[in-house]
Amino acid sequence: MSKRFRGKGLWGLPSHGRGTCPVCQTKRIKILYDILTEEGKKLTVCKRCRKKKIKSACQENKL
Ligand SMILES: [Zn+2]
Repeated sequence: MSKRFRGKGLWGLPSHGRGTCPVCQTKRIKILYDILTEEGKKLTVCKRCRKKKIKSACQENKL
């Protein structure tokens, strides 16, 4: 678990685990963390958004 998102494990993922975070819109960041929004939807976000409480996608761009 601890090294799940490092090294060669990433390379089997689509785009090597990278993409645009649906929460902070950071591009080419690693999108590695599955979280549940308050609506109960599953979202895959970057490390920065992992600990945020997300109501739904694209709601936290005002920061
Ligand atoms: Zn993010």
